[in-house]
Amino acid sequence: MQVVASAHHKQHATVLQIPGCPIPCFEIPERAEAIWTALSVAQVGKVIEPQDFGVGPIQVVHAQEFLDYLQTAYPSSRPFYEGDQPAIADTYLGRGWRHKPSGFPGRIGYFAFDATCPILQGTWQAAYWSAQIAITAADLVRQGERAVYALCRPPGHHAAHDLYGGFCYLNNAAIAARWLQQGTRQRIAILDIDYHHGNGTQEIFYEDATVAYFSLHADPNFDYPFFWGGAHETGAGEGQGHNHNWPLPLGSTEEQFLAALEEAVNAIAAFSPAYLILSAGFDFMADDPVPLGGGFRVGQDGLITTARRIAKLGLPTVIVQEGGYHVEKLGGYVVSFLQNFDN
Ligand SMILES: [Zn+2]
Repeated sequence: MQVVASAHHKQHATVLQIPGCPIPCFEIPERAEAIWTALSVAQVGKVIEPQDFGVGPIQVVHAQEFLDYLQTAYPSSRPFYEGDQPAIADTYLGRGWRHKPSGFPGRIGYFAFDATCPILQGTWQAAYWSAQIAITAADLVRQGERAVYALCRPPGHHAAHDLYGGFCYLNNAAIAARWLQQGTRQRIAILDIDYHHGNGTQEIFYEDATVAYFSLHADPNFDYPFFWGGAHETGAGEGQGHNHNWPLPLGSTEEQFLAALEEAVNAIAAFSPAYLILSAGFDFMADDPVPLGGGFRVGQDGLITTARRIAKLGLPTVIVQEGGYHVEKLGGYVVSFLQNFDN
């Protein structure tokens, strides 16, 4: 399987303990490096650099004012921070808001929904190239590849039309979906197996009948992102019935996870999409160091079954890297997943 990857991710030079961040920033460059090394050692496939498709395909998904903000956030924030200290909001837009701020520091709390997303000097560049990785992979699949893996960092599924959070700035999976459609109404399914609900992807396509979202994730009553991910969130307007959530209880077993996966895969087959995008977060594995809860009890056998079951759909597939924070094991998980997907 071909792999699209770029060293640009290192420009989002996060560290575990970021000043001003209330929780550790688990989304660090070592994650992508570990995956890249493991893929190279296992010779999973040719590793190619992303093409630069420009900002156009990103504008199809995200609001222009949001992109303008992200692109200029670091320089705009400098008067409020010392040296190269990352910009993180301390005040967020809440219920009942009435005024849209025009400058810093208000704007950072308008576009961000949590404190997990520091703005560093190279954050925009890394996010831009992460999106280009997803577009390049989607383009290869559109040209006839059975499946391509996009080693995206930073990840994307928590980023919505004009909102960022959960380590995500641009929604790579959504951008890839729109690239596959090329302005048509061709059906796309997005299956999200990351441990956390992909609230950004859900919101982007919530009223869309052509891109359906299917997600297995931690019940938002006990884990992030808390305000999205319920089973009753089924879409609206034209998109009614095209949003499918499987919130799973704390400590769900491998059997429970695979049973939900079976339902999701069958729902995808019934939707009969032209393409599948897989939001592949490996934090559903039992030993992921998530900050809350004990997660799911999914082991290596569950990982292999998951890969094979999704592959059995027989759809041209873009596999987009999302979360997964066990740096020592993450590379092995990705290799195992891709090898079993290819089998
Ligand atoms: Zn996650």
